[in-house]
Amino acid sequence: AALYKIDGWGAPYFSVNASGNVSVRPFGAATLAHQEIDLLKIVRKVSDPKSSGGLGLQMPLIVRLPDVLKSRLESLQSAFDLAVQSQGYKAHYQGVYPVKCNQDRFVVEDIVRFGSAFRFGLEAGSKPELLLAMSCLCKGSPDAYLICNGFKDVEYISLALFARKLSLNTVIVLEQEEELDLVINLSKKFSVRPVIGVRAKLRTKHSGHFGSTSGEKGKFGLTTTQILRVVRKLKEVDMLDCLQLLHFHIGSQIPSTSLLTDGVSEAAQIYCELVRLGAHMQVIDIGGGLGIDYDGSKSSESDISVGYSLEDYAAAVVQAVRLVCDRRCIKHPIICSESGRAIVSHHSVLIFEAVSASAYESPSITSFGLENFVEGLPVEARADYGNLSDAAIKGEYETCLFYADQLKQRCVNQFKEGSLGMEQLAAVDGVCDVVSKALGAADPVRTYHVNLSIFTSIPDFWGIGQLFPIVPIHRLDQRPSMRGILSDLTCDSDGKIDKFIGGESSLPLHELEGDGRYYLGMFLGGAYEEAIGGLHNLFGGPSVVRVSQSDGPHSFVVTRAVPGPSCSDVLRIMQHEPELMFETLKHRAEECMDGSSIAANAALASSLDRSFHNMPYLVVGASSSCSLTA
Ligand code: PLP
Repeated sequence: AALYKIDGWGAPYFSVNASGNVSVRPFGAATLAHQEIDLLKIVRKVSDPKSSGGLGLQMPLIVRLPDVLKSRLESLQSAFDLAVQSQGYKAHYQGVYPVKCNQDRFVVEDIVRFGSAFRFGLEAGSKPELLLAMSCLCKGSPDAYLICNGFKDVEYISLALFARKLSLNTVIVLEQEEELDLVINLSKKFSVRPVIGVRAKLRTKHSGHFGSTSGEKGKFGLTTTQILRVVRKLKEVDMLDCLQLLHFHIGSQIPSTSLLTDGVSEAAQIYCELVRLGAHMQVIDIGGGLGIDYDGSKSSESDISVGYSLEDYAAAVVQAVRLVCDRRCIKHPIICSESGRAIVSHHSVLIFEAVSASAYESPSITSFGLENFVEGLPVEARADYGNLSDAAIKGEYETCLFYADQLKQRCVNQFKEGSLGMEQLAAVDGVCDVVSKALGAADPVRTYHVNLSIFTSIPDFWGIGQLFPIVPIHRLDQRPSMRGILSDLTCDSDGKIDKFIGGESSLPLHELEGDGRYYLGMFLGGAYEEAIGGLHNLFGGPSVVRVSQSDGPHSFVVTRAVPGPSCSDVLRIMQHEPELMFETLKHRAEECMDGSSIAANAALASSLDRSFHNMPYLVVGASSSCSLTA
């Protein structure tokens, strides 16, 4: 556990159990020992078609843990409740979940259900997000907010007004000044009195990677001048009472509470000014940005860590709003936040398999005979070999490496010119490997090939260099003897992971054992990865299971299992028609396979059929032989 810093980034949800496997404490610190869930047991259960109730799901796999989601949501609420209570704040906290972080139906439905006791709502940033948020909130608390952010057209605003007609507690947040005329006109047309918010462009700027949306030049929001024009216009049309919410978003992964305090205080001043100007302000919506400590370092200096806890975050927000409002004798507003990453990151684990590792062949030159090797070398190369041997006898290691390098380069050039055979080139490689290994200069890092597409499942690593903790989910009672980088299935040199938390360029890994399986987990990836992921090389998403704690024999139950998209599914996305393709290929086969036996033809046709129906990922081990003989 220490090697992978699990206690740092994983607490209180992930730890290593007595069997050396990663286990999940689904309720965080409140989890009892018998409630812990062993991740390897989940993988075995859902991937093995022969186990009792086994589902035969193909890897890779996303394990969703709704209990963890509930725990995160309740922890956020409790942190704010505590801050409100302990500081004598005179209004409450009422958050929303920005669905962009993970729009999965069950994730959003869970959040609405778990949060309904404390009026937790949703935030949408596009029309499909608004549609899903509206339908999910029909089952939520009637007071829960439906915050409508993002660029808006007539259709978006009409939908938001419709949501208000459905008695959903909808707020249309103006991100662009032009949206105001649409809101005024459409609300008159549909006779709906809207509740309006404005997104302010703060001067406070977050300097990390995610800070480009903040500051005066940020992409979204209204400047001070624009906010004043909005107020004036609303007053003119007698709708200033509709303006009730002030929103801002400093950026994701806010590194420190000092930056947070700075931003919230600035926004609280704008809030107080809007009250002074006559708006019926009720809510300050502090946006997202509550960060995740991906490497467990608790540092405010890095994009992948944060120097505060949930409690520190809530206390800083409540204090900043309270101090400004008290100074200006303004009634405390309801505090809303749009934390996404902090709510959903922990609840899902991506599990994938290392299927092979680049072999570190024991260097040897004997197979082609040393005498033949030296004899066959050109004169200069023979001199290099002689110098190399002399330096080795004298123990001059640097000189050895120099001549080994020179020998190799010379032989490669000779090979390219056609004057050296393949056997001799292989023998030269062997000599140089022996020298490097003997002098400790050989590269000990292996490449582990993983049954995964990084572009599909970890797009933030490829796109923005975001690091996530990656750990073998078993064999943690054995010290890993190797170091490796991970290389995926795509035909793309960017499809590899060679940076890991802690600034490491390789990961401690175990040696792959015969036909044993080796499973790795990527943790804290529940936010953003699924919707951003692409279809590079037509690898679709992983299989997904939902797993809840249970008091039965296994300590867990699989409540839902969905295989990942098949080859047909991904082909269809690119406008191909798999049924037609199958018929074309079958027809061609009938023409070409006249001479083969009926049985052989049938076997080939059924393997073609399987190719369309299986996922694009490798079918590994037992299940591959099983599917081929089926
Ligand atoms: N709200 C808005 C307006 C955003 O742009 C974002 C994401 O960048 C969020 C909320 C969610 O942020 P986070 O996931 O960092 O909490």
